[in-house]
Amino acid sequence: MPMEPNDLLAVLEDRGHRLTGPRRRVAAAIATKAESFTAEEVCGELPGVGRATVYRTIRLLVDSEVICKLALPGGEPRYTPARATYHHHHAVCLRCGAVEEFRDSTVERVVKAAGSDLTGQIVAHRIEFYVLCRSCMAGDAVEGKQ
Ligand SMILES: [Zn+2]
Ligand SMILES: [Zn+2]
Ligand SMILES: [Zn+2]
Repeated sequence: MPMEPNDLLAVLEDRGHRLTGPRRRVAAAIATKAESFTAEEVCGELPGVGRATVYRTIRLLVDSEVICKLALPGGEPRYTPARATYHHHHAVCLRCGAVEEFRDSTVERVVKAAGSDLTGQIVAHRIEFYVLCRSCMAGDAVEGKQ
């Protein structure tokens, strides 16, 4: 689900960030993303915008919780539009980058249980699930028949 560039800009402005031309262009590029993307992809689409600006704007949007940062095994982090405003987790398709946000009380119980084995106190956690999404699995099934 693509975002509105104006929504992204409004969030930055609300937080007191200046809406420079390059930041507007980064927000507009990100707003077209229906699925997850990397900072490098955005840089590639905006040759006229400095890499530092792209990375910094993305970081501001992550800090503002309008996009989510996803850690991937052995790869560049990917970013995805934040659909949920509450605490949530992600299932990321390793093949196509599709992202599903979800809330799972089982995960939270596991985190709580793990906390009792630690000497410190858990103040935050990040858990991502890496999946092969339904349409990628369906693609595999079709290929298998040929
Ligand atoms: Zn998210
Ligand atoms: Zn997939
Ligand atoms: Zn959680």
